[in-house]
Amino acid sequence: AAEVVLVGRSNVGKSTLMRELTGHSFDTGGKPGVTRSPNHYDWAPEDFVITDLPGFGFMSGVDEDHREQIKTDIVRYLEEYAENVLVAILVVDGKSVIDIIDRHSGPDEIPYDVEMFHFLRDLGVPTVVAVNKMDKVDDVDDRLDDLCDRLGLLPPWKQWRETIAPISAKRGQLEPLDEAVRAHLHEQQRDDLF
Ligand code: GDP
Repeated sequence: AAEVVLVGRSNVGKSTLMRELTGHSFDTGGKPGVTRSPNHYDWAPEDFVITDLPGFGFMSGVDEDHREQIKTDIVRYLEEYAENVLVAILVVDGKSVIDIIDRHSGPDEIPYDVEMFHFLRDLGVPTVVAVNKMDKVDDVDDRLDDLCDRLGLLPPWKQWRETIAPISAKRGQLEPLDEAVRAHLHEQQRDDLF
């Protein structure tokens, strides 16, 4: 079956989002770095498989080598299955993503989230950034414009509704994500027809 993949740093709310999307319950707040090979689930009522890739980035109690290994595995998985992947969902925490990106930007450092976004696009995988925890963000438009800027997308964010999807997984507010994903699926079905 066609596949939708979910990637993101640990603690951004990936498990919460998976639970909302699939109706399965996931281990949230469990031991980080443990549940950790790709997990596949049916995304009803859509006819896809949704794959949860391991969370990456800092996790307390997980050493540097293990973190690097997780990243390498994610990259390999994506390279291997890119052709089968209809849409990638890169989940970020709307409350902290700008600070994290800025903290990790430097002359020879590219932040994970930015790197992953470009990597997916270079693979030709349509990518939606699910900006989660928006229930905790006050200056929504400014925050999302800043995110566009960091990802190399020309603000305002409202021009990028197929790419930037503000959500709150915890509150079940997922409509922008649903619409963005559908837009990509329809584009691809159209491409297949012609
Ligand atoms: P994961 O490590 O990416 O799988 O993250 P989890 O799904 O375990 O969520 C990490 C923490 O963020 C938990 O405490 C969740 O309750 C919380 N969380 C997840 N989604 C949201 C959201 O939309 N809003 C808020 N405020 N918290 C959230």
